[in-house]
Amino acid sequence: MTQYIGRFAPSPSGPLHFGSLMAALGSYFQAKSQQGQWLVRVEDLDPPREQLGAADSILRTLENYQLHWDGNVVYQSHRHDLYQTQIEQWLSSGEAYYCQCTRKQIKAMGGFYNGHCKPLNHQDPAGCAVRLHIDQPVTEFTDLKHGQITLPQALAEEDFIIKRRDGLYAYNLAVVLDDIDQGVTEVVRGADLIEPTGRQMSLYHQLKQPTVSYLHLPLALDENGNKLSKQNHAPAIDELDTQATLLRAMDCLGFAIEPSLKDGTIEEIIQWGVQHWSISQLPESTEITPRFSNGSV
Ligand code: GLU
Ligand code: ZN
Repeated sequence: MTQYIGRFAPSPSGPLHFGSLMAALGSYFQAKSQQGQWLVRVEDLDPPREQLGAADSILRTLENYQLHWDGNVVYQSHRHDLYQTQIEQWLSSGEAYYCQCTRKQIKAMGGFYNGHCKPLNHQDPAGCAVRLHIDQPVTEFTDLKHGQITLPQALAEEDFIIKRRDGLYAYNLAVVLDDIDQGVTEVVRGADLIEPTGRQMSLYHQLKQPTVSYLHLPLALDENGNKLSKQNHAPAIDELDTQATLLRAMDCLGFAIEPSLKDGTIEEIIQWGVQHWSISQLPESTEITPRFSNGSV
């Protein structure tokens, strides 16, 4: 049997917030309850959206919550060669091509790019994005919690961007090349990434690699029903009242928290979580509003 390899892949656009703590915990418990490895990969692909010091801050927070990763942290900013080599291979095989279409033109196509540049054979990469031609669209997949998920056809069929016109590598490309390179067997992450899963699976097909399994965790919403995200300026999680924060996040992941755990150390709570983790106890909904009331879980 192949060993389970899972990962947590934060983007350093801000400090770890409550929603990303849930993703870190869910992926950690799922890996450790199967004696697997849990890798951490910093997805620093998009410098304009990154915050100075955020990567280090996220790693310190994980350590503070006793979430210790296996092996070395991988940084996507150090892996451009891997991405570029694959893109060049696809460009020379004709599976990928340059595209000059503007946002405005794509809007006029009805919101989804319609393959306009494929037959045009643009030769000059300047000002062009690179798109991958999709001949095996993925319109559904099985999520370990939510079962069969159906994705929009137009989204699945679109020749999507693998390198942006500003020269940045696309998230979907980097995440798949890295997961393959790191031997990841299962992806556990927030439900905000359900939609791109189809595109990521088509990349596995294109690369003739076996696909991985997927588990999408509920997204934490704030009191106003907005997703907790760095873009919404979700507050950094508490570094002092770690026990209570940890138990609140585990409550959101569906654990039946025993009252005595409140007096446990972080290590004890994490160990208890590994032992009591199960996918079936996760909330059925892909969104959840945490019970924030003064630490009472
Ligand atoms: N870097 C992505 C994020 O922080 C997560 C990627 C993934 O888990 O596939 O939203
Ligand atoms: Zn185009």
